[in-house]
Amino acid sequence: MAASVYAFFGIQGSGKGTQAKLLAEEFLLKHISMGDMLREMAASGSLLGQNVKELIDAGNLVPNEIIVQVAEERLQKPDCIHGIVLDGFIRTDVQAVAIDAMLKSIGKPLTAAVLIDLPEAEIFSRLNDRLSCPVDGSVYNLKTAPPKQAGICDQCGANLLQRADDMDTEFIKTRIQHFYDSTGKAIEYFRSLNKLISVNGCQHIAAVYRELKSKLGL
Ligand code: AMP
Repeated sequence: MAASVYAFFGIQGSGKGTQAKLLAEEFLLKHISMGDMLREMAASGSLLGQNVKELIDAGNLVPNEIIVQVAEERLQKPDCIHGIVLDGFIRTDVQAVAIDAMLKSIGKPLTAAVLIDLPEAEIFSRLNDRLSCPVDGSVYNLKTAPPKQAGICDQCGANLLQRADDMDTEFIKTRIQHFYDSTGKAIEYFRSLNKLISVNGCQHIAAVYRELKSKLGL
């Protein structure tokens, strides 16, 4: 049987990353976030990294050619062999078509696309409550998933921070715009292939996860 491959979609603050990680942990799939890979590239100081950093810092999307190339290299690594959870990996219809075809060509066709659905009105209050660990990337929510000790990462003990991009209203609006304009088309592409499942993101983490697994037949 082919390894399972899931692509997660969700607006900033929807809980997509949390759900993607839960699924990856339970089913021993490799969790890969394009945002994390691009941030690493930006931190590398290379010329390409500098360009990527400028785009990320402005809340804009990185060009499709770069994304498809990064995806192609990453998805063929041996750690992807048992299955993959793609987190925020695909954000335009061009990427959707290219990455969908590439996954087929490397013998790992997409099992399902998952949309963690959250109304726009919820986004700002969610982002206000979000804290993340600058060391290991763990994410907390002051209301729904607080750390055991205030301000401290449960996993590694580092001081938690609010992400700069979660506090900047204009930046958030730019990202919301990209989500509806560009990522919306990628989501529609998978819906047209009957590969999309939509999960109500306005619930507690465990309830979202239950609905997710049930809709995936897991
Ligand atoms: P994230 O951590 O997923 O919120 O991603 C951070 C930033 O990386 C986004 O705001 C974009 O600038 C960039 N990015 C991540 N994934 C993609 C993608 N598939 N296509 C274009 N840009 C991306």
